[in-house]
Amino acid sequence: MPIRPENVHRYPPDWPQISLAIKKRAGWRCECEGECGRGTHPGRCPNHHGAPAYGTGSTVCLTTAHLDHTPENCHPENLRAMCQGCHLHYDAGHHAVTRATTRARALTEAGQLTVDVGAAATPVMPPTRRQTPPTDPTPAAPGTEQLLLNLPAPCEGIHP
Ligand SMILES: [Zn+2]
Ligand SMILES: [Zn+2]
Repeated sequence: MPIRPENVHRYPPDWPQISLAIKKRAGWRCECEGECGRGTHPGRCPNHHGAPAYGTGSTVCLTTAHLDHTPENCHPENLRAMCQGCHLHYDAGHHAVTRATTRARALTEAGQLTVDVGAAATPVMPPTRRQTPPTDPTPAAPGTEQLLLNLPAPCEGIHP
């Protein structure tokens, strides 16, 4: 999860080391056992860092999630290695939705939204949404958050 600028100061200076330790603890496999609420993986998530993600086949980028969404709480019990898909869903309602909405707009403006819709999230899209031109300047419609949360995020920009 990229750290929002206003939250940077809330992370300890050794966060990169902490995050790395959690991923090693996890054996570089997503530790989510359903906490994300996606309901798409029975038991522990099968995604391994650098391997193709189940469902989408895109490359998994392991991140470290705070179970209580509090950056200051870096106790190992509060940290969980998560693939980007689980992490984004787990954070939904906190800050991921805002980010996803921003990303939806960026994708829309770049004319890429229709491509992603067809590739990753057709089942969750309302039928009318696909008729919206990709260059539509209006803000993301309801339902776009759900769409974007299903999309893999590139590793670039994701805090270790
Ligand atoms: Zn996962
Ligand atoms: Zn999960």
